[in-house]
Amino acid sequence: MSRTALITGITGQDAAYLARLLLRKGYRVIGTRRRRSDPWRLGELGIAAEIELVELDLAESCGIASALERLKPDEVYNLAAQSSVALSFERPLDTADADAIGPLRLLEAVRQALPDARIFQASSCDMFGAAATGAPLDETGPFRPQSPYGVAKLFAHWTTVAYRERHRLAAASGILFNHESPLRGPEFVTRKITRTLARIRHGSEKVLELGNLDAARDWGFAGDYVEAMWLMLQQAPVEDFVVATGEAHTVREFVEAAANRLGFALEWSGTGLDERAIDRRSGKAIVRVNPAFFRPVEAATLVGNAAKARTMLGWRPATAFAELVGMMAEVDERRMCGGTG
Ligand code: NDP
Ligand code: GDP
Repeated sequence: MSRTALITGITGQDAAYLARLLLRKGYRVIGTRRRRSDPWRLGELGIAAEIELVELDLAESCGIASALERLKPDEVYNLAAQSSVALSFERPLDTADADAIGPLRLLEAVRQALPDARIFQASSCDMFGAAATGAPLDETGPFRPQSPYGVAKLFAHWTTVAYRERHRLAAASGILFNHESPLRGPEFVTRKITRTLARIRHGSEKVLELGNLDAARDWGFAGDYVEAMWLMLQQAPVEDFVVATGEAHTVREFVEAAANRLGFALEWSGTGLDERAIDRRSGKAIVRVNPAFFRPVEAATLVGNAAKARTMLGWRPATAFAELVGMMAEVDERRMCGGTG
């Protein structure tokens, strides 16, 4: 008999790739969305018709347990979240409600209504915060989050552990390092870079303005990371895993790789707020620093050690950095050509 998966935040990047993976494995896939959410990503992957959509907001306690009783999922993937670190500094209360209390509401509903279901919680490398020294980080921490997002995610992480240990739920926390794709929201730096550079190429924008070019992040492909999520819920007993590539690249390196792919030849000059990049072919300054895009505080480097996932799940990322950047740049270029950029 086919298994049923419930994915919260079905309109997001990861949910689209996870839904496609689970459909290919023969699951019945149900996705929860908020009232005004746009499921465009499911359309892009050509799977919109195969997903059952239900309206459910983790900000409202009532309704979650009854939905679980009615839908009876075997596996629950909690991907819904206010997922932007930058926005969390401006909206800390909303972030805490969605990213900390939301998962608690869901875990409590699973405990009451469907205690045999397996549940995945999407945790974040932002939980490491000030504890990040530049060395690869693993499941043992320590965690010293610096953003409202990281603090909220850490609450959800420990709550997941507590429900597993205290209430015997099959609940697992995946400590996910940054993962990207052509379906990434344009507010995140990778997609902002590929989309804006594609627009500059086509003349509809002039300049790409960024914050901290020296920040180094461990960027993987979302399509690979959802495989790890699924593998985590196939374990008995379930455990927590870091999911990462183990390789860090700076924002500047990402810009360079995307620019090369799109036919620019960048030459950097200046330092700090005066740093900029000129396209040697046109002579125009196309990348500039804007202090508005700096964070109040953040880790200089976040890089993960996914040795446990490699050993216990047999998981490893299939997509290299250059391939990821190329894929994103090419899709944004194609969207520009097709008039949807
Ligand atoms: P997205 O931002 O693409 O998707 C988030 C989903 O959550 C959307 O469906 C969104 O709905 C929904 N959502 C947003 N705010 C709320 C809210 N207040 N209440 C309920 N639902 C909400 O994120 P990703 O797919 O990239 O990430 C999936 C999960 O993984 C998230 O929990 C994220 O925090 C976590 N994560 C992601 C990383 C990454 O690099 N991508 C790294 C580490 C963790 P709507 O369409 O209505 O906005
Ligand atoms: P995050 O790691 O989850 O916060 O993902 P983001 O893609 O938002 O940011 C990744 C890194 O890029 C962070 O270190 C940011 O400080 C850095 N960054 C530099 N310029 C920008 C920018 O213009 N927008 C965003 N979102 N991040 C930027």
